[in-house]
Amino acid sequence: MEKILSYLVNSLRNLATYSFFIFLFINFTHAQNNILPCGTSWMVKKEFEKNPDVFLKNKATLDSISKLYNNSSRMLSQKVIPVVFHILHEGGPIGVAENISKAQIEDAISIMNEDFNAENEDLINVIPEFENVIGDVQLTFTLAKIDPDGNCTEGITRTYWPETGSADDDAKQVIFWDDESYLNIWVVKSIDSSIGAAAYTYVPATGGPNFKHGIIANNEYVGSIGTGSNSSYVKHTLSHEVGHFFNLEHTWAEWSEVGLSTNCNEDDFVNDTPNCIGSYSSCNLSSESCGSLDNVQNFMDYSSCTCMFTAGQVNRMEASLNSNVGARVDLWQDDNLWETGTHPSYESEECLASIGFYVPNGTTCSGEETQFFNNSYNVGESPTYYWTFPGGTPSNSNEENPIVVYNNPGIYNVSLSITNNAGNAYLIEDNYINVFDQNNNISEIVESFENNNFPQQSDSDLPWSILDQETETTWNRTETAYSQGSASMRIRSRFFSGENVHILYTPFINLNSFDTPVRLYFDYAYAKRNSQSDDLLRILVSNDCGVTWTERKDLDTDNLVTNGGSYISTTFVPSSNQWEEEYVNLNPWSGESSVQIQFEFSGEDGNYLYIDNIRLQSQNSNLINSASEAKGKLLKVIDLLGREVSIFTKNKILFFIYENGLVEQKQVID
Ligand SMILES: [Zn+2]
Repeated sequence: MEKILSYLVNSLRNLATYSFFIFLFINFTHAQNNILPCGTSWMVKKEFEKNPDVFLKNKATLDSISKLYNNSSRMLSQKVIPVVFHILHEGGPIGVAENISKAQIEDAISIMNEDFNAENEDLINVIPEFENVIGDVQLTFTLAKIDPDGNCTEGITRTYWPETGSADDDAKQVIFWDDESYLNIWVVKSIDSSIGAAAYTYVPATGGPNFKHGIIANNEYVGSIGTGSNSSYVKHTLSHEVGHFFNLEHTWAEWSEVGLSTNCNEDDFVNDTPNCIGSYSSCNLSSESCGSLDNVQNFMDYSSCTCMFTAGQVNRMEASLNSNVGARVDLWQDDNLWETGTHPSYESEECLASIGFYVPNGTTCSGEETQFFNNSYNVGESPTYYWTFPGGTPSNSNEENPIVVYNNPGIYNVSLSITNNAGNAYLIEDNYINVFDQNNNISEIVESFENNNFPQQSDSDLPWSILDQETETTWNRTETAYSQGSASMRIRSRFFSGENVHILYTPFINLNSFDTPVRLYFDYAYAKRNSQSDDLLRILVSNDCGVTWTERKDLDTDNLVTNGGSYISTTFVPSSNQWEEEYVNLNPWSGESSVQIQFEFSGEDGNYLYIDNIRLQSQNSNLINSASEAKGKLLKVIDLLGREVSIFTKNKILFFIYENGLVEQKQVID
């Protein structure tokens, strides 16, 4: 547990910069309300503006049906809605933070089922004036038992997604089950601060045929236990969003903000919810904001005492449930219930586990304790875990979240098998964990990527390494262009498919003898491919063997451009005057004995980014002092035998050859 706690603390530190921004935002809203609002109307409006014609056509169709339902009194019948929860997590253990437990999801489902069947305990609080309009929607939400491939499921998926701390509709690209068959609910760490919401969804009229419908929710607004809360607002948040999903608006208006006096002139298209301006995080049961008593207890208000739908809202939801607009009508059909395993007569069995595991950063150091986290789902009631760790101690484990020590540097396989009543499932990940040797630290860096074997972590002269992402091109050595010597490293995002990051790690550096200022300099060259180019280079530093990383510099597309900004549709090859120099300040790590730096690249639609001539400079560096301008550019460094070297070991005599022909003999003293 201690290790898990330290992991969480570290994650928090990791996100310090980002969190600061969020902190400002949340504090702003918390100061007034203590709760995040719903993001639906704002997001719907944005989609509407992208394609008003489609939205208005869909809305007109749905409105005509809604009118029919408004004016009829019908016998309602129970309908079942198949649901899948997609948990998008940052890799921590199941049941901690955004990687919420199965129990929390089941709690959320049971609250939704109470709310949609007028069985919620707090319904008793409804004031007499609204008792006679309480609506019973008669919807039952059931976790899917069969997935879109026809396989057994518990209706919960768990996927590692680094963007879950600032989630938006990109979540739907990570995992999505056909929205004509399932109500998708994506649970995230938090929603992007530009949306600033507890949760959001889209009304059925939104988007064309390929639009992905569903609900995105911050984990802290899911259910009443775990990271959720038993407060009225929080525990009913999903019911509010499902209300929108079935075409309800906020009680005060279609699109405007809560609390505006102008809301009295707007409508939510439901007859028995009186005109109001809307309340936020308060519960004034006698509020008459537009001249009549407000229904502040309505689930579609932001009050702190929501507990009911009205009969008019039930009619409006019923209309959307019977319309092809947004395909809500497909969800509850008998054949869909059988296909998703949610038919009341379907007898489910335990599933084979879907195996997943994670170790933060994918790297560790020899001799260090390394925490592995199980991220499997469909594990059933009493799974047994069996891990193997070739090269590790222990070499196998039955723990759910074991701790392993690797004594020797290298890259190792890891496997996990889970046995339950359905049988045994396993996953073997080849070359899963990269174990660095932090004691093999070097005391200088001058790297211009001249060695054509670069990088080879196993070669003690080239202990750089690259975190590869399968299926995407990553950092590569090239002789196409360079600012120094005859080679450089390059990468481009043109064919990137996801939000993967590609990392070039330096060796561990001993900064013991470096007084401030200590800087890591590098040359770079970059061009945009087109107006869609969106790239990011981040440079991060770690002094704890990669457990935590501190960002020291980030260069986005516009910062990276070195060719004046023109688009290059063919391969960008920089000319000598298209290179620029940048540095990272390492002062906080001056005197540290084992510091590692990473160049992390991500993006889309870009042309090549080249980097070259990475070198460390400090006040009292015995080498490569900043006199390079006077001497011209450093061309290469060779040893006594004339071999080119890039890593400087102590007491070794080296020759520095400069562009203007100058040769200097130097030696690292300590
Ligand atoms: Zn809302």
